[in-house]
Amino acid sequence: MYQFHRGQDLLNLCAQHDMSIAQVMLRAEADERGWEEKQVLSELDRALAVMEESVQKGLNAEIKSVGGLIGGNGFKLYQRLSTGSICGNLVLKAVSYALAVTEVNAAMGRIVAAPTAGASGVIPGIILAVTEEKKKSRQQAIEALLVAGAVGKIIAANATLAGAEGGCQAEVGSASAMASAAAVYLDGGSAAMSLNAAAMALKGLLGLVCDPVAGLVEVPCSKRNATGTVNALICAEMSLAGIESVIPFDEIVDAMFRVGRLISPDLRETARGGCALTPTAQAITRNISSDI
Ligand code: SF4
Repeated sequence: MYQFHRGQDLLNLCAQHDMSIAQVMLRAEADERGWEEKQVLSELDRALAVMEESVQKGLNAEIKSVGGLIGGNGFKLYQRLSTGSICGNLVLKAVSYALAVTEVNAAMGRIVAAPTAGASGVIPGIILAVTEEKKKSRQQAIEALLVAGAVGKIIAANATLAGAEGGCQAEVGSASAMASAAAVYLDGGSAAMSLNAAAMALKGLLGLVCDPVAGLVEVPCSKRNATGTVNALICAEMSLAGIESVIPFDEIVDAMFRVGRLISPDLRETARGGCALTPTAQAITRNISSDI
């Protein structure tokens, strides 16, 4: 009864039952899994706790990725909170947290793959930073996860969340769309505004290729989470200001899938193009191979 396949179905359900995206998603998840709603909420509470732990762990200066290419960047950026920044506290925190989580992932630590391990920084970065800076409750943060999940569910059903299939637009682009919708929700925006923000966020990263250096989920992945985070925040801000995406969310999802099919296999997680084919990346790859 509360199942939805497209963004428009979700908006219709919200209007029909006078419910938020979070409420519809909660019902849909409980129905699909045959769980009580409180069980879904308890799983999300657990996921949020893992996100919080990974942020804290990643803000430790000592963290180093398995491939040795990243580590300590979340910590470095976070120091700008006390020295003053160009971006302001909320953006700085969100991006520091996003970098921190991706560094924990690259160090083989525990993260929530939301929606994938490579793109795991954007959603916790935004939900935790907005919750802190806007003084939202834990319950509201969990509801924001439901909103992000609803957007991810639609993208997964109609396109893909895998870099190997759709390029990085499918991973960081989707994470950015999910987080943007969640940020709108946390700031009191409507269901339509959330999907509008998601459309703009995904559109902004359309065509982004997947080109991990040496095949490791480190470079450019970690910093792309930073880009995805800022993209999500500004799209949420635009939507809350009443700026609309000319192309609706569902059509952008379809476009993303079509673009993914057109992206050369060299630019879909094979490390045969893009950043992975630069002279520096090739030298890194040779060094790593000679160490094995
Ligand atoms: S570049 Fe590829 S592996 Fe890295 S985050 Fe993007 S999709 Fe994932």
